[in-house]
Amino acid sequence: MTASPARPFVVAAVCGLCDSPTDDGLSVTFRPARGPRRRVHLCAHCRTNRPGRDRDELLADDHTWALLERETTILADAYRTGVWLPCRDEYHWAQTLARTTWTQSSVEQTLRNAGEHVRAGCLMRVMELLPHLLALVDDQDRALRPARELLATLTDDPS
Ligand SMILES: [Zn+2]
Repeated sequence: MTASPARPFVVAAVCGLCDSPTDDGLSVTFRPARGPRRRVHLCAHCRTNRPGRDRDELLADDHTWALLERETTILADAYRTGVWLPCRDEYHWAQTLARTTWTQSSVEQTLRNAGEHVRAGCLMRVMELLPHLLALVDDQDRALRPARELLATLTDDPS
C-alpha cells in the first residue's frame, strides 16, 4: 500500500465572528487575549451588523454581539418549536424591556429589577448582553436587531 500523494492543503476562509464561509478577501485586525494579533475575515452579515463596523479591528463588543446573535437565534427557535416555554414573569419582563428606551443605564436598571424567576430564566441570560453593546451603539442600531426581534416575538404572542 502506498501513501497517497501530497495534496495542496487549502483552508477556506471562515468568518472570525460566526464561522460562516467567506471569500471576499477582506479582513480586520484581531487581537486575541493571548497570542499574536492577526488578520481575520468577516462574512458580509457580520461586517455590516457588528457594533464595531466602523473600525478596522475586531472589538470585544463585536464578540458580544456575535454571542447575542447566536443565543437569540437559538432561543427564538426553541420558542417557535415549543422547546422553550417562558414563564409568565418572563413574558411580562419582555414587555417591560421592549417598552423601555434602551440606554446602558436603563437596561441595567431593568435587568436589576427582574424578579427571581426571570433571573433564573433563559431570556435574562441573553438580554444581559445588551448593556455591553449599548456602551457602543444607540438603541436603534442594527446590532441590537436580534434582541428586538426576539422581544417582539414574545410580546406579540397572546399567550
Ligand atoms: Zn459572520
